[in-house]
Amino acid sequence: MIETDVLIVGGGPAGSSCARKLKEKGMACIVLDQVAFPRFKPCAGWITPEVIRDLQLDLAEYPHGLTSFSKFNVAVGALQFKMPTRQYAIRRIEFDAWLLQRAGVAFHIHKVKEIQEENGRYVVDGEYSARYLVGAGGTHCPVYQTLFKPANPKIKSALIVAQEDEFEYKYADERCHLWFFQNHLPGYAWYVPKANGVVNVGVGGKAESLKSKGDSLKNHWNFLVKKLEESGLVQGYDFKPSGHSYYLRQPLGQTRKGNALLAGDALGLATLDMGEGIGPAIRSGMLAAEAILSGAEYTLGSIPRYSMPSLLRLRG
Ligand SMILES: Cc1cc2nc3c(=O)[nH]c(=O)nc-3n(C[C@H](O)[C@H](O)[C@H](O)COP(=O)(O)OP(=O)(O)OC[C@H]3O[C@@H](n4cnc5c(N)ncnc54)[C@H](O)[C@@H]3O)c2cc1C
Repeated sequence: MIETDVLIVGGGPAGSSCARKLKEKGMACIVLDQVAFPRFKPCAGWITPEVIRDLQLDLAEYPHGLTSFSKFNVAVGALQFKMPTRQYAIRRIEFDAWLLQRAGVAFHIHKVKEIQEENGRYVVDGEYSARYLVGAGGTHCPVYQTLFKPANPKIKSALIVAQEDEFEYKYADERCHLWFFQNHLPGYAWYVPKANGVVNVGVGGKAESLKSKGDSLKNHWNFLVKKLEESGLVQGYDFKPSGHSYYLRQPLGQTRKGNALLAGDALGLATLDMGEGIGPAIRSGMLAAEAILSGAEYTLGSIPRYSMPSLLRLRG
């Protein structure tokens, strides 16, 4: 049996941020993830100034490509405008691996299946034992499924489905485009040019709204591909989209049960207006670590529910 103080399930932004804080204060922890890093994660990779601050990230020291935008090109239906802002874009395949490495803690490739509580400790798959357990395993986190789900089912109307593709492309348009509610999409589509000749395009929307209208995300993906082709943003490319789902911020039920805490998508913290989940994952991971270290209450009130204030530079 491998014993530690804190077992963190999931090495994404929530898990690695929690791990980094624990390590800083000298608390032993192990991060378990079902896959090796660098790992692919469907995500546009847009991050806010708050993320940069929370991570104490010196932009000059980030070893991978990082794009900054001083405005977004926005379309809401037929209305088009430029939104002055200060935002950033990274590639998740690089960013997450870098965050995990920077945390500097033990990392084991292990797919968590069974969690049991024995004598005040959490035992995972009969192989790991810890005093604390952090569920940072994303939408289908096994910690949430085992310990929290029965009393805290997630609200279906908060489920977002998204599809995206990230690929090398000699793009000519360096602007970030966001298209809201086009073709009756209950969400938005994006075009995000990134450093080193990489583009990320995608669509995301509320699953329940799509279903109630007999609509599908695939329709909106096809609509986006046509728009990219016709506008000249991306032409002649053979797309291979990947899909994923996650939850927008809901009224927070149980975030902690005994010494088990949830963070990031495992909890469902993405912002209600933009589905921004990286920042909330990082902040909640850090707060989970602080609660473990101090014995204080695990409160998530400092995590914004909306992204718009940051986009409008009201925060950030
Ligand atoms: C298409 C798309 C685009 C998005 N774009 C943006 C964006 O531009 N900006 C933004 O802020 N947010 C965006 N989001 C949301 C964002 O990606 C998530 O909110 C964020 O990744 C949450 O981080 P996390 O650490 O909680 O979970 P994750 O990043 O999902 O990490 C969870 C980890 O847990 C591991 N895991 C899962 N199950 C197990 C198991 N049983 N055993 C061991 N390990 C396990 C996984 O392998 C994974 O590495 C987007 C989401 C999608 C789907």
